[in-house]
Amino acid sequence: MQIRKLFRFEAAHVLPHHPGKCSRLHGHSYRLEVAVSGPLAVAGPSQGMVVDFDELSAIVKPRIIERLDHSSLNDVLANPTAEHIALWIWDELEPVLPRLVEVVVWETQSACAIVRSEDARAR
Ligand SMILES: [Zn+2]
Repeated sequence: MQIRKLFRFEAAHVLPHHPGKCSRLHGHSYRLEVAVSGPLAVAGPSQGMVVDFDELSAIVKPRIIERLDHSSLNDVLANPTAEHIALWIWDELEPVLPRLVEVVVWETQSACAIVRSEDARAR
């Protein structure tokens, strides 16, 4: 079974190679989806859960949200496209969330980049 949690962060970026207006400094209200899959725990405090949503938040917030919120993404990545941001988030989370299956970065209401394990391995 899969669970998914939604996070938000506000950040600025410049896309240095973009031929249009994205080469100018601007910001987005990003939405991040983190999906984890696996069997339901049969005992203990997470019984009946893939992973406790609170536990997922406790992993994602300090590693991703607190670092990116109200930041300039160009301080983290030279070319912070939604695709590169999603791959960076994958690489930060995968070592501590081994059952991570998908990272989705929504840059606008209608545009997102999705990384799954096969995409991360194919680099
Ligand atoms: Zn942009």
